[in-house]
Amino acid sequence: MRGLPSVDRVLQQVASELPHWLVVQVIRREIQTLRAALQNGRQLDAEQLWEMLLAAVRGRLESLLGPGLREVINATGVVLHTNLGRAPLPAAACKAMAETAGYVNLELDLADGERSSRLNHVRELLCLLTGAEAALVVNNNAAAVLLVLSVLAAGKEVIVSRGQLVEIGGSFRLPDIMRAGGAQLVEVGTTNHTRPSDYEMAIGADTALLLRVHPSNFTITGYTGEVDLATLVGIGRRHGIPVMEDLGSGLMVDFPGADLTLPAAIAAGAAIVTASGDKMLGGPQAGLLLGRAELIEPLAKSPLFRAMRLDKTRLAALEATLRLYLEPETAWREIPALSMLARPPAELAKQARSLARRLKRHLDVPVTVCASRAPVGGGSLPGLELPTSLVALTVATAGQAQALVDALRVGNPPVLARARGEQVLFDIRTVISSQHTPLVAACRAALEVAQCDVS
Ligand SMILES: *Cc1c(COP(=O)(O)O)cnc(C)c1O
Repeated sequence: MRGLPSVDRVLQQVASELPHWLVVQVIRREIQTLRAALQNGRQLDAEQLWEMLLAAVRGRLESLLGPGLREVINATGVVLHTNLGRAPLPAAACKAMAETAGYVNLELDLADGERSSRLNHVRELLCLLTGAEAALVVNNNAAAVLLVLSVLAAGKEVIVSRGQLVEIGGSFRLPDIMRAGGAQLVEVGTTNHTRPSDYEMAIGADTALLLRVHPSNFTITGYTGEVDLATLVGIGRRHGIPVMEDLGSGLMVDFPGADLTLPAAIAAGAAIVTASGDKMLGGPQAGLLLGRAELIEPLAKSPLFRAMRLDKTRLAALEATLRLYLEPETAWREIPALSMLARPPAELAKQARSLARRLKRHLDVPVTVCASRAPVGGGSLPGLELPTSLVALTVATAGQAQALVDALRVGNPPVLARARGEQVLFDIRTVISSQHTPLVAACRAALEVAQCDVS
């Protein structure tokens, strides 16, 4: 421990434009981290300690100078990338967020000066667009599911097919949400096959809900079978038990190869439908709850709902996104999550060739274009792969390709690409043409950093 440098000694070595008190805090915290490492048995001599401490302090101070959340170029081709913030917002939603950042009539009816609900605008749009009788919006879909279970199924049983006990990235695991909501999970069927009779036999006096969960991020192939929504609704009706559909993706318009849309789930008779706002709907993070008024209205009275509500800027973004759906053609054109999905292969190939030409002009490594297929990602449309075009840079070794990917990620702007063998691949689907110039500059800088050469 005696090898640990003093705060003063480090202070003399680091120059920063940040306030003195902040620099001192950062140094203290980094010394504390090193002390903990030593206590945990890490062997470091004084020289190593000094080097590590200086590097850590400088890194921290550097990161404090700018925002932690930064715009990145997504060259992965994954349209809904949870690590990259899922759906990029439509321009109309960005504008709405900026315009509602100050004072707004969030809970005030301007016509009569009376208090109103913050959800009025989105509620009406959601009902009109989906055909649902009632609608509610919360922080995200996990919250939506938890709210339903807590209010409608606490202390009761919820029947779910074994093939639908999903885990969605970031700790949404259905059995855990059930427990948190105080509901008793009743599993029916098997991993690959569940039949109507499985549900029928499990229904009892304590059954509160029949729940279908969309397998958003996996597919089961081979000898498989699930009970479709309409059939389950029929079973529910016979026994007087509501059917809930956790759709996940929130697709509002038909897309070839995708399954249920929100309006289709309502039309099939689901009593409650839940979905995310930032998956295929293409809006801000939100959880949508749609369905029959007698089930949705009690949810709004729960104290949990109060704890899950959306703020004004996200409500404005959601409203602006929903408005785009009033004209499906506008939605396909203006909502990036949809327009990126719908980009025709010929247009992708043209854009890839254009980017490749510019890269060739500025880089000394071979640049090629190739056709490929890629998934949509982000817990939506599992198993669906769309044709796309890749731009590839080829370097000498696989190690160099990985080094280049790493350098691109920490560059300015950060670029997310992937390595395959000796190649670094950029999937053009998620790259817009205005990003070509910064992407070329980022590649030049990263090639310099990664010191790649050509085979
Ligand atoms: C994505 C997803 C969730 C979680 O939604 P969040 O908005 O991320 O909270 C829940 N259920 C299903 C079926 C999903 O696809």
